[in-house]
Amino acid sequence: MSQLDWPKTFSCEFFPPITAEGLSKLQTARQQLMAMHPAYFSVTYGAGGSTRDRTVEVVLDIQARSEVPATPHLTCIASTKSNIRELLNHYKTQGIRRIVALRGDMPSGMRDPGEFRYANELVSFIRSEFGDHFHLEVAAYPEYHPQAPNPNQDLENFQRKVDAGANSAITQYFYNPDAYFHFIDQCARRHIGIPVVPGIMPITNFTQLARFSDACGAEIPRWIRKKLESFGDDRNAIRAFGLDVVSELCRKLLDGGAPGLHFYTMNQAGLTLAIWERLGFTTSR
Ligand code: FAD
Repeated sequence: MSQLDWPKTFSCEFFPPITAEGLSKLQTARQQLMAMHPAYFSVTYGAGGSTRDRTVEVVLDIQARSEVPATPHLTCIASTKSNIRELLNHYKTQGIRRIVALRGDMPSGMRDPGEFRYANELVSFIRSEFGDHFHLEVAAYPEYHPQAPNPNQDLENFQRKVDAGANSAITQYFYNPDAYFHFIDQCARRHIGIPVVPGIMPITNFTQLARFSDACGAEIPRWIRKKLESFGDDRNAIRAFGLDVVSELCRKLLDGGAPGLHFYTMNQAGLTLAIWERLGFTTSR
């Protein structure tokens, strides 16, 4: 199936906050984002289980309080099969049907990778223990994973996750639509037949974005970087320019056949909703 043939899936991602104030901001953002009628709200998970309790709390809160299903992220590095099994059993009893299955990055100071080395092993494990109960999302990297020795091997490794039973993928964020379309072409050549939904990072803060991008291997194209740098501390200018750039990116992706969008909301609704409206989609309760 080509990417064009899949139904479009729109979703939003949160991270589990540390403070009560952060939690209340997240709840407000979640309520506002309901207006998009997303397919699901996902919640990140700290590698090595560092946010385990907070992730579970936010996931179950979403699941209980909104009509939008909650989707926990789950990382496997530095974890054991028994920990993962226990957590997934808990999610299963709470009605969770979709998981974002990831390797994660080795937490600093830890050396033992545990019982899983790569995300494809987690996908295989979930399939062998839980059959088809969970819809499994995996990560994809149109600009390639920073640790991949070369693009071909990274694609091969992506294929391993699909062969292990992933249903769909969400990409790392990127600002160059050609990277996504090239990646999709490469997947089609390998007969990788799952939807690959672009991950979208709205632009609010240049310093933070530059730091994230260096760490995760996402490129900020020079012209965007230069413009953002030129705005200095002018948050309104950064926001307005970022909104133009990211809305245009989303438009190109959807026009080119992307099977939806996954918004990295950073627990704020404003920019995601503004992009949504720029795309001409309705917001209603
Ligand atoms: P993998 O698919 O295992 O790939 C990791 C690296 O190993 C790649 O270089 C790949 O080419 C290579 N590789 C894969 N399989 C093999 C193999 N069998 N043999 C040899 N090499 C192999 N991180 C968090 O900590 N928490 C989150 O909640 C979180 N959510 C994310 C959501 C999305 C949509 C994305 C794109 C990323 C997310 N991340 C999260 C970041 C992610 O954990 C890191 O990018 C991590 O470095 C890789 O995870 P992965 O699941 O892609 O790993």
